[in-house]
Formats: sequence, structure tokens, C-alpha cells
Amino acid sequence: MSIPQVRIAVIGGSTILGSGFPGALDGVEVLEEAVVYETPFGPTAPFTRASVGGNEFLFVPFHGITRGIMNTEPDSAGERVFYVLLKAGVTKIIGTALCGSTNPLLDPADVVIPDGFVDYTTKRAQRLFRAIKAKGEEVGSFSYRLHQPFCPRLSSLLVAGSKKAGFPRVFPRGVVGVAEGPRLESPSEIRLRYTDQGIDVVTMNLVPEVFFAREIGACYAALELVSNYGEGLVSTEWTGAEAFREFQSHWRLPSAEALLHAVRHMETGDVSCGCASNRWPSILT
Ligand SMILES: [Zn+2]
Repeated sequence: MSIPQVRIAVIGGSTILGSGFPGALDGVEVLEEAVVYETPFGPTAPFTRASVGGNEFLFVPFHGITRGIMNTEPDSAGERVFYVLLKAGVTKIIGTALCGSTNPLLDPADVVIPDGFVDYTTKRAQRLFRAIKAKGEEVGSFSYRLHQPFCPRLSSLLVAGSKKAGFPRVFPRGVVGVAEGPRLESPSEIRLRYTDQGIDVVTMNLVPEVFFAREIGACYAALELVSNYGEGLVSTEWTGAEAFREFQSHWRLPSAEALLHAVRHMETGDVSCGCASNRWPSILT
């Protein structure tokens, strides 16, 4: 299947698993479903192409990760997804993830639209264009800054969408720590690595999306939904998988509505946020 020209992409995460995003939501027209694209890194997870309010968008669930496509192995999910977004000419990207609170002021069901991140991962792909070249395909080469890693325009759309969708508290800033996983952290790690370092929430799936978006010259913003307290932060009581499932099924539809609100109101030609000017052609290959 050839890659269509589309300006907007939504990278799904656990927040919206089971919500039926995007087809089950009001006003969405699904144009294509279950489309697997071939990339130099291998086939992708199934994409959906849809439209809402005149804005067409690509959607891939759960960061493009499947049982056979990981983010911690060569030919990673991130490389496959962003190869498609690059070829599609995507300029606006939103992502989403569940996270644990590492700031004791945050509670489950709080939404954080982050303005900063710290990458604690060790196995993720770092350079998209270099990886594409290593596969024998000629592409440009860019260096970039991350002084504004999250697009302020897309972030404010996610803040507005989250409030409208009924989340009790929506924080328009916060710092995300990105853990390698797949295991969860110990109480000491939560305290020493995150809380004591001024990090508000911890998740596993913001990297490499946040900097691959910059590498392809696109805006990026994320909706982080607190699903639990970081270990040892508030209580050591284990609430169990049952409580987590109940939480996720309660908030997956509001999460989906918040993302869709942002897509509906995006102006794809708007470059006034300045995100795209934070990269430049590089002599590095
Ligand atoms: Zn931007």
C-alpha cells in the first residue's frame, strides 16, 4: 500500500485502548482501516486513515508497537511509524500515554500536557534519517534543538480538549521522565530518579516520538494521563489489575475525545509556533 499525503497523525497509547478511536467517535469518517505500510524497517502496525471536521489524519495504535514490533529492538516501532509520517508529509503529531505520578500533588485521573521531558531510556533508536540511510535510501540530514520540545499550539488544544472531555484536573505543564521498562520502578528509583529530580510523571512511551517528530520537522504534543501513584510515593498498597482495568475503561473515551478535539481544531498550515524552524540541514550523516 502506498503512503498517502496526510498532514496530521495521532500516535495512540494505553489511554485509548478499547475506546474505538477513531471510528467510534462522533463526526469521524474512516477512510481506510487496518492498512499495513511497507518500510525499510519492515511492515508497520495497522494504520487507520480518517477525517474529522475537514481534517484528515493517520492513526496508529499503541505507539506502533505490536507483539512482533518492539521499541527496544533494531527496526523499531518508532522507526517504522516515523518513516510513514515522514513520507506522508505529516506536520502535526499528537501522542498519548498512561503514566505514574512522581509528584505527590498529582492523583490518578489528572491529565498532564507536558512542557519538558528527561530521557532515561537506553535502547531506543536515536536518529531516524541516519537509520533510513543505513537501509540504503537517500534522505536529508538535520540537526535540531529541543528547547521547546512540545508544540505550544498543539499543547493548548490538548488542554482545551481534556477540560471539555471532563477530566477533573488538567495541568498545562509538567516534566515527564521516560523509563526504559518493561518493568515498573522500585520506590527508591521513584524517589531518587524522578521525585527528587523535579520530575512530575513517569512513562515508557514518549521516546523516540518527541524527538523523531522534531527530526522530520513536525510539531508534537502529548496527553499524559496519570493512572497510578509511583511506587512508594503515597502508599505501598497494591490496588491490583482489576482496579487498573476499571480506571482505564472509565477514562478511555474522555481521552479519545480530548485527542479528537485537538485534531478537529488543528490548522495544518500554521507555522507560527516555530517548531519547524528548530532544525537545520546538517553535515553530519
Ligand atoms: Zn508547533
